[in-house]
Amino acid sequence: MSIELEGGCLCGQLRYRVTAKPADAGYCHCRMCQRLSGAPAQVWARIRQDGFAYSQGAPNTYRSSDHGQREFCPTCGSQILFRSANDPDFVSINVPTLDEPNLIAPDCHVYVSSRLDWFRTDDELPEHEAGG
Ligand SMILES: [Zn+2]
Ligand SMILES: [Zn+2]
Repeated sequence: MSIELEGGCLCGQLRYRVTAKPADAGYCHCRMCQRLSGAPAQVWARIRQDGFAYSQGAPNTYRSSDHGQREFCPTCGSQILFRSANDPDFVSINVPTLDEPNLIAPDCHVYVSSRLDWFRTDDELPEHEAGG
């Protein structure tokens, strides 16, 4: 099924388009996402990589682990994308960077073993100690 969503960074220099329905979406509570985002969790949506394209600007990249790469705006630093060599057919966008982030809702929690004590989510979604 195809869709058409757009998103971008805070300053507006980096823009992207999503044309594939997400395979899944969730909150990541891992320490890397916490440090990277400066938030208690990052909300991602996994999309087939051929359903994602930058439509304006080009990101800077940061290799955050031996298999993972983070992509972000070189000017304002907004974190847009995660790519993993372990999951090469998919990319994970950061849902709040969509123009209409309410269109994709998280369906699980991953890495809840590092969820912050004071961060509560009022939902019944499945929880995974590590990746989903
Ligand atoms: Zn920017
Ligand atoms: Zn994470």
